[in-house]
Amino acid sequence: MGKPLRLCVVGTDTGAGKTIVTAALARAARGLGLAPVAFKPLQTGCPRDSEGFLRAPDVEVYREASPEAALPPLVLLEDASSPHLAARREGVSLSAAALASCVEDRLRSLSADLVFIEGAGGLMTPLNDSETLLDLFSLLGASFILAAPNRLGVLNHALLSAAALRARGLHWLGFILTRPSAGDDSDLDRRIRADNGEAISRMAALPYLADMPFIEELQSPCPDVRAKGWDRAAQAVEGAVRTAGRRFDGRLTSEQLLRFDRDHVWHPYASAVRPVRVREAVGTEKARIRLRGGEDLVDGMASWWCAIHGYRHPALMRALHEQAGRMPHVMFGGLTHEPAVELARKLLAIAPPGLDRVFFADSGSVAVEVAIKMALQYQRACGHPERTRLLTVRGGYHGDTLAAMSVCDPQNGLHANFAGLLPRQIFAPRPDCRFDRDYDPAPAEALADVLGRHAGQVAALILEPVLQGAGGMWIYHPDYLSRASELCRENGCLLILDEIATGFGRTGRMFASEWSGITPDILCLGKALTGGVMSLAATLASEAVAEGLSRRGGVLMHGPTFMGNPLACAVAGASLDLLSASAWKADVDRIERTLRLGLEPCRGLPGIADVRVLGAVGVLETQGPVAVEKLQDYFVRQGVWLRPFGRLIYAMPPYVISDGELGLIVRAMRGAAEEKQWE
Ligand code: PMP
Repeated sequence: MGKPLRLCVVGTDTGAGKTIVTAALARAARGLGLAPVAFKPLQTGCPRDSEGFLRAPDVEVYREASPEAALPPLVLLEDASSPHLAARREGVSLSAAALASCVEDRLRSLSADLVFIEGAGGLMTPLNDSETLLDLFSLLGASFILAAPNRLGVLNHALLSAAALRARGLHWLGFILTRPSAGDDSDLDRRIRADNGEAISRMAALPYLADMPFIEELQSPCPDVRAKGWDRAAQAVEGAVRTAGRRFDGRLTSEQLLRFDRDHVWHPYASAVRPVRVREAVGTEKARIRLRGGEDLVDGMASWWCAIHGYRHPALMRALHEQAGRMPHVMFGGLTHEPAVELARKLLAIAPPGLDRVFFADSGSVAVEVAIKMALQYQRACGHPERTRLLTVRGGYHGDTLAAMSVCDPQNGLHANFAGLLPRQIFAPRPDCRFDRDYDPAPAEALADVLGRHAGQVAALILEPVLQGAGGMWIYHPDYLSRASELCRENGCLLILDEIATGFGRTGRMFASEWSGITPDILCLGKALTGGVMSLAATLASEAVAEGLSRRGGVLMHGPTFMGNPLACAVAGASLDLLSASAWKADVDRIERTLRLGLEPCRGLPGIADVRVLGAVGVLETQGPVAVEKLQDYFVRQGVWLRPFGRLIYAMPPYVISDGELGLIVRAMRGAAEEKQWE
């Protein structure tokens, strides 16, 4: 038997008929030759039996309809009230994560091909002061059936339920209309009932799965009569079970999906014909990534350094949904909007002083392209058309588009593929002055020397401040930056700082340039700008750059289709609000301490060339290249997600990662070093 199909039966409200629907579904599934189970994770209103034990009334209903399927609830509470209230009264604490893990434990030990999980009350029934049933359901990876009583008022409840579930990205199988009581039978009632099903399916775009009549037999004291009633109920919902089967028949299995991916979908820096192994991710939450196979991995990458607040932070999701409801996108040529203007205001308020202008780009690489164009157009407009080259240092990385690639480290592989096409830039040695040692001025003097030799040709110096990321995870002394800034000023070239990787707190300062207290002429931001939710980047410039470039009617020659995308800007604005309200600095300091404590012992291990830690960045440098796939298999077995490259095993986790989770990451990195898993 494969993994069982999970169906959650939720109601528009209490008394919507969920229990009868669930019991009938289980009976129908059994009738179709399937092996179903049905249970409620949580039941309130449980009476005590003669010995004082709590009894679950709903399981008795299931037992009558489908004895083999019926399982007791996981949590029973006596008060017939909302779970949060009943739990508080009984001194029990409920949480979505704990309940979900009990559900998973139970499902692991079962052999079934269909699992019906019944909700309690409606979707937004509180579990505790901050979580609702929806938080539990979000963790279960199920498809949903809404039980909606066919009466006046159901449209409102059904439309709200549909919207709430969709806002969480959860899947509706459809709805079943119920008649928990005989109800009135006036002409108006009949007209209302006749319209409800069609209205819900049209307005909420929910498939109308079944119409369950009022079944009088179920009220009978005679078991035989009730059995007939259950047959009628099962018949009414049989179509819903068949639909569930079809829906999942149509869905690719994980194996099919991975095969199609391997045959047709390109992955980053990967061969199309000899693809590297990929895994299917199906959900994310805080610092966790869930794979289709059920593995829950602690994420040490923050999705390439972006998801600083963790995944699906409620404030970011709220901003996304609210903006989606208003205006997901509109062109930026000739129009502007609040999300972009608000974001620009917030960015300029935290950016190094002296930056006054914001250009929104769609990715980090594009932000770098724009920065380079700004510098070249500025020099030309200011009467220096001969200043057409970029100066940078070895070991850098600035993106994968052509101009950005031209300032990446020339030895790191990309350049050779595009020889002849890339502009030839000027390279100074890597700033070898370590962050964690006394300042060594020699590399900055080497920079001065290179700049001196090319004086008059250089439009701008471009650097990643303090931390060189994808070019080698190298951390250098802030005094180098101060000297570089002075050299630019003396030389008439601009300073571009690429803080796409370092911005928004990663190095322990809001921006890494703050370690030196300098302001660049142009600043590139990206990655964590939206907290990892969407692609957005920004190129900020000083007023002098903007004015210089605009001389003689000059305009910046760039304008992407999705410039200033309102969705991305709204989420980025919310992410900056979170940063200003949150204790990110304390979190980054805490992560730094744990990384340092955990990784320092690797120094001196055979094959380990260096250990580097700054802010929420921890790096092990190996003497030889790492076997990426083997190492990644090892990390997944340890329950963590890390993606090493080159000679680097490193972590850049979300700031919200817990101490326990970070401990797992550090132990896995240390294990890899101690056991030489990387070779
Ligand atoms: N600059 C730096 C410093 C980066 O780290 C990156 C991405 N790793 C980029 C630019 C390019 O950003 P994107 O991948 O969004 O194009």
